[in-house]
Amino acid sequence: MTPIRQKNVTAAQWAPNGGVEPSDLTRDENVVFGSNVFSVAVQRERLPEVVFTRLQATLDRGEALDVELADAVAEAMKEWALERGATHFTHVFQPLTGLTAEKHDSFFEPTSDGGSIAKFKGSELIQGEPDASSFPTGGIRATFEARGYTAWDPTSPAFVLDNPNGSLLCIPTAFASWTGEALDAKIPLLRSMDALSKTAVKALRLLGDEESQRVTTTVGPEQEYFLIDEQYYFARPDLVTTGRTLFGAQPAKGHELDDHYFGAIPERVLACMLETEMELAKLGVPIKTRHNEVAPAQYEIAPIFENSNVGSDHQQLLMQVMQNVARKYGLVCLLHEKPFAGVNGSGKHNNWSMGTDTGHNLLEPGDTPAENYSFLFFCAAVLQAVNQHQGLLRATVANIGQDHRLGANEAPPAIISIYLGSQLEQVFEAIASGTGEAVIPEAVLDLGAEVLPPLALHGGDRNRTSPFAFTGNKFEFRALGSSMSLAFANTVLNTIVAEAIDDLTGKLEAIGTDDLPAAVAAVVKESYLANQQICFSGDNYSAEWEEEAERRGLKNLRTTPEALPEVISPSTIEAFEEYDVLSERELEARYDVWVEQYAINANIEAETAASMARTMIIPATLRHLALIDAGGSGVLASESRELLDDLIEKTKALESANLYPDGIEDDGLELAAYARDQQLTAMHEVRVVADQLEKIVADDLWPLPKYSEMLFIK
Ligand code: ADP
Ligand code: MG
Repeated sequence: MTPIRQKNVTAAQWAPNGGVEPSDLTRDENVVFGSNVFSVAVQRERLPEVVFTRLQATLDRGEALDVELADAVAEAMKEWALERGATHFTHVFQPLTGLTAEKHDSFFEPTSDGGSIAKFKGSELIQGEPDASSFPTGGIRATFEARGYTAWDPTSPAFVLDNPNGSLLCIPTAFASWTGEALDAKIPLLRSMDALSKTAVKALRLLGDEESQRVTTTVGPEQEYFLIDEQYYFARPDLVTTGRTLFGAQPAKGHELDDHYFGAIPERVLACMLETEMELAKLGVPIKTRHNEVAPAQYEIAPIFENSNVGSDHQQLLMQVMQNVARKYGLVCLLHEKPFAGVNGSGKHNNWSMGTDTGHNLLEPGDTPAENYSFLFFCAAVLQAVNQHQGLLRATVANIGQDHRLGANEAPPAIISIYLGSQLEQVFEAIASGTGEAVIPEAVLDLGAEVLPPLALHGGDRNRTSPFAFTGNKFEFRALGSSMSLAFANTVLNTIVAEAIDDLTGKLEAIGTDDLPAAVAAVVKESYLANQQICFSGDNYSAEWEEEAERRGLKNLRTTPEALPEVISPSTIEAFEEYDVLSERELEARYDVWVEQYAINANIEAETAASMARTMIIPATLRHLALIDAGGSGVLASESRELLDDLIEKTKALESANLYPDGIEDDGLELAAYARDQQLTAMHEVRVVADQLEKIVADDLWPLPKYSEMLFIK
């Protein structure tokens, strides 16, 4: 048997490695949820009562901790972590790489008598000082000043991450330059949550809510991913280096049979999921749903929603745990947006809403007329925000992986639009037309009148093709890529919706609220009429929609280099500065980093493809030709030789594209556009020929695992 076929046999076998205890989560003794989290309950139990009360009060007021208080918290946290086998602590932060970063420090300090003690001071809890020089800063920090600060975020709980050889106390932190500028994903997210809360509370007062003190944005992500056997992964330099296959002919069987979505989960995969979920439960990540996705070897995992900050931290943790646990089952978890060309890619749905501290979801249609006009007011604000910042929202989901997915036929297009569902659409139309009798059904007839009756909006309305859909009590932003952090997309959503709420609140104030229903209807009507171009209920994947969107003047930013300038557009800067979320300089830093990352990643792909063509695919084809020559078939020889010549020519073209031309800026948009137009294009041409060769070269000579193996042998 050939070496690769041999791998298939090994891949198809697995032995349950018995890592998970049986656990009925309804039995008290089995509840692992949050067992590795330094939660409020643990704090209450472990901290002296005065310290606990002062800590909670400080957090409620959003103030900084004093050192004495921090020392007491650190002491309790250390004791708790040591009991769980922790040897080190780390400040976990999210630099502009989009990943998480950590530097581990040991609790242990030697003593003068040759022994050692475990130490963890309040100052170490509150603040760390990593060398910032190795993180992307977009020019914010001059290289001679390497200092960066990490600051404890007490609103996202600390946790212990287990490792077979010792555990780690992880402290969620923010990361800033020594001048206080944000160098991470968390700081702007927290700032945007504050901005939205302030504007929403102000609006709620006008709408008659006297109680709510704070509005919190919420996020519930749905994460898609692939699991493949690790033997295939390590046999593919492209997967190891770039996270996706740069070569690979289409298999005879794809997902045409529609037999994978919601199909029975293979046993090894299910075992892996169970352990992943168990680990995440210990860390307090509330996983709710799992299922097979559309593509073979593709799956989905979804937690219950949490506040944006904790939900975003948990999502980073989820991606890390998924990748770690998969290895225990001989699997590799692929989070790339498009690991296999021609096969469904992976996205991440970002369910988003706003809730008050009194427990009211502002996007939930209510039982009373008052709740309903509040609901319509906030919905109108979302519509306005998304329409006015459609380009920026598109930019939040831009990365090199997404360029293969957005607009490809199973994913939302690069055009941002909103699907309201037929009922909500009718409500808005009724308000816009002032009457509505003729067009709307019985259930919502009275909405055109002044008193709004309950809306029955929890119907099964679904439009899977829409990038931004109202789904009953939340909006679902579906365009995120599977490898992405949630932080920036939610930072943007919060900020632009805060701006729109503020605008509509101003208009409501100007009209006066003596007749609140009439005033809200007037404000909603004006906003809807001005922004309704963003609403689309048809098939977003169709060619007609592209044309229609163009007629409407909606943006269609197809690639990352086209989308990223939206991050520094005048309307972005204005909104972000107005609500103190990011300064112009901080936005420019992010833009610079992301543009540079695109060009670097494109270059890595192009170099990897060139090397694989040269050192794997061309030699395999030569061996194949030698075989034909030995056997003597003129027809086969000329067919293969032609493709080989073509492959050599295309490979050489790619190699020369990989040498940047003289005079090109070594960072910036020009280089990104060059990478897209020259390198990625040349790479694609190489692939087209190589994929033809894959179909004719002798199977035992082909150097790479094929799609038919990677996707189907589980
Ligand atoms: P689907 O979109 O596949 O039909 P569901 O309707 O079950 O999925 O919900 C998807 C996600 O929406 C879940 O992660 C859930 O926690 C989240 N979600 C539900 N309510 C809210 C909310 N108020 N804010 C944010 N996310 C929410
Ligand atoms: Mg969904």
